[in-house]
Amino acid sequence: MRIWLSRPHMSGREEAYVAKAFESNFIAPLGPQLDAFEASVAEYLGGGVHCVGLSSGSAALHLALRLVGVEAGDEVWISSMTFAGGIFPVLYMGATPVFFDLDPKSWTIDVALLGEALESAAKTGKLPKAIVPTDLYGQSVDLDPLEALSSKYGVKLIVDSAESLGAAYTNGRKCGTGGDASILSFNGNKIITTSGGGMLVTQSKDIADGARFLATQARDPAPHYEHSTFGYNYRLSNVCAAIGIGQMEVLEMRVAARRAINERYQAELNIPGISFMPEPEGYYSSKWLTTITVDPQQTGISSKNIREMLMEHQIESRPLWKPMHMQPLFSGTRYVGSRVDENLFDTGLCLPSGSDMLDAEQGEVIDRIKTLLAKI
Ligand SMILES: *Cc1c(COP(=O)(O)O)cnc(C)c1O
Repeated sequence: MRIWLSRPHMSGREEAYVAKAFESNFIAPLGPQLDAFEASVAEYLGGGVHCVGLSSGSAALHLALRLVGVEAGDEVWISSMTFAGGIFPVLYMGATPVFFDLDPKSWTIDVALLGEALESAAKTGKLPKAIVPTDLYGQSVDLDPLEALSSKYGVKLIVDSAESLGAAYTNGRKCGTGGDASILSFNGNKIITTSGGGMLVTQSKDIADGARFLATQARDPAPHYEHSTFGYNYRLSNVCAAIGIGQMEVLEMRVAARRAINERYQAELNIPGISFMPEPEGYYSSKWLTTITVDPQQTGISSKNIREMLMEHQIESRPLWKPMHMQPLFSGTRYVGSRVDENLFDTGLCLPSGSDMLDAEQGEVIDRIKTLLAKI
């Protein structure tokens, strides 16, 4: 590939922080760089949140599910259109996922649908233990009504903010601060990266303490190794956290760059039959990936035609997440919705959106799409 969907984008200062970790020999899953990285994310998010650095976003979700009390056999209600890492931890817990559709006005979980389903589940005493909506492509879920439903029905809320660090819900409320816990990812293709890593963010000191305990093999206080439960080796490496310190310094610039890329796509691909993911009034999406849908009736081509044409020119684009209820793994799993997500998967495409993409590179992507459309 010459032009990538989303690549790691270093500020140039990360190596100096990594060197500091080496100088102090904290080549370990704990250390001052990890403390500093957690503190910088906590300070950025504000509101006195607790942040626990972990080896991945999936690990963060696994711990969050366990710490809010999800047990084998419980139901977890979850956005169907999301990445596997935002789903598989439900299976690690032996819990049963129920998949929910998106609201076409926001492409995030359909809150009205969820509310109706909770109301009828409450009547039959079959409420889920937790709901896990995703901030899709960097756009916040509709947090206020979700938090209201969570407290009304006593159902735990874990927000998957893996793609939305640097974004905000309405009134400037930052993504990553929602629910009983939120999860972040610092995988190589996300807004900022630690080469691999994640974080659990919560207002609850108990959940944060529990995450630190479980992520370091559940060691009870004792001079020897004493265990009253089982844990995991899930802590973020101190060396990787050092990369994160440098990345946090440029987070807002990275989001601004992705938003500018999105604005240019919208301005220059203002073509009948091409639509963009809507951004509700007052939201501030990280625009992690710019996503379009292509109406074959109006354009004469499909999103697949665009993807294959771009691929011929070594330009990476990708279909939207294939909804989980369409995956062979989950055949027969309950799905609630009217297939808004299926339609988005059929017609959608993620365009190159990396914050390090050059103006000329984006210009080439745009020109090639326009040329293809002109040929029809
Ligand atoms: C990336 C991602 C995850 C998982 O994060 P990892 O750090 O790759 O484990 C979970 N959910 C969503 C929506 C993601 O995009």
